[in-house]
Amino acid sequence: MTFFMTKDTTPKTVSFVLPFFNEQGNIGKFFEQLLAVLAPLNTYRFELILVDDGSRDGTLGELRRFCRSIPLVGPLTAHLVVFTRNFGKEVAMTAGLDISTGDAVIIMDTDLQHPPGSIPEFLAQWEAGAKLVIGQRTNRKTDTLVYRIFAGLFHAIHNKLSNINLPRGTGDFRLVDREIVAQLVTLRERQRFLRGLFAWLGYEPCIVTYDVQSRHQGRSSFTHWRSWNLALEGITSFSTAPIRLWTYLGLVVAIAGFGYGFYVVLITVLYGIQTPGYASLVSLVLLIGGLNLIGLGMMGEYIGRIHAEVKDRPIYVIKTHETF
Ligand code: UDP
Ligand code: MG
Repeated sequence: MTFFMTKDTTPKTVSFVLPFFNEQGNIGKFFEQLLAVLAPLNTYRFELILVDDGSRDGTLGELRRFCRSIPLVGPLTAHLVVFTRNFGKEVAMTAGLDISTGDAVIIMDTDLQHPPGSIPEFLAQWEAGAKLVIGQRTNRKTDTLVYRIFAGLFHAIHNKLSNINLPRGTGDFRLVDREIVAQLVTLRERQRFLRGLFAWLGYEPCIVTYDVQSRHQGRSSFTHWRSWNLALEGITSFSTAPIRLWTYLGLVVAIAGFGYGFYVVLITVLYGIQTPGYASLVSLVLLIGGLNLIGLGMMGEYIGRIHAEVKDRPIYVIKTHETF
């Protein structure tokens, strides 16, 4: 019997997970740049997964026009997935990953902040064996000072409290091998912080730097409040340190309280009853009351998340799913 060493010539498929929320003004330019980068990479097949995350402008019309206008034959296929409402970027990316079939999946923003020009480098690292290629921005020029300070604090706190490490300056822009995508789609928690979930899976990332661009048109949907909530999601999803803190804080305050109680009794025994005490009493009541409320609030953060999980609702609702 003879064995032939045949080289596998079936082209690899690369999927793109592309979330859109009110990106009407960016779609034309985004696809123009993306397709220009993909055209020379003709050894691959590409699968574009466009997720319309409940846009309220002309995004859906633009996406549909794009899907119909380009010759989506041969090496390029497209899925147009439309949510019933805005579920948020983390959920939009989740739906894209669920639907994707490629050997690798690239996730990127569609407002041209993530330069399509970096894609060949991502692919080169993947071909060289990397299973997870993460884009790291070389500057924070598009961020406000407040945002930069909070982003720094978030990374420091998150990486300290949880066992997983999120490298500074990295976001959702990444290439993920099918092996990892297959693992990720089994994580069905409703409150999602996707880059944390990827890090949780534990694969060593290969970091590729890119020059972050300014948003082509429109405004970021991530207000400070929304970013704050995402940061809370990140920390509470991967660490219970914030609630465990209360055990120790409670212990310290209790010991101090006993100490003070002992002191008051001693003074009374030694010098008789001392009536004045309003200031110390009020400050103690306020201190303990305040600590109780903060502790309760932190419990609430976790209980709210348990509540969301036990309801066991689907993560998203798809209105239409067209394939081109
Ligand atoms: N996005 C989304 N759903 C949302 C908000 C944003 O799918 O609810 C998409 C948006 O279309 C873009 C990406 O997520 O492709 C990043 O959003 P944005 O530019 O608003 O955030 P930033 O770049 O400021 O973090
Ligand atoms: Mg953006």
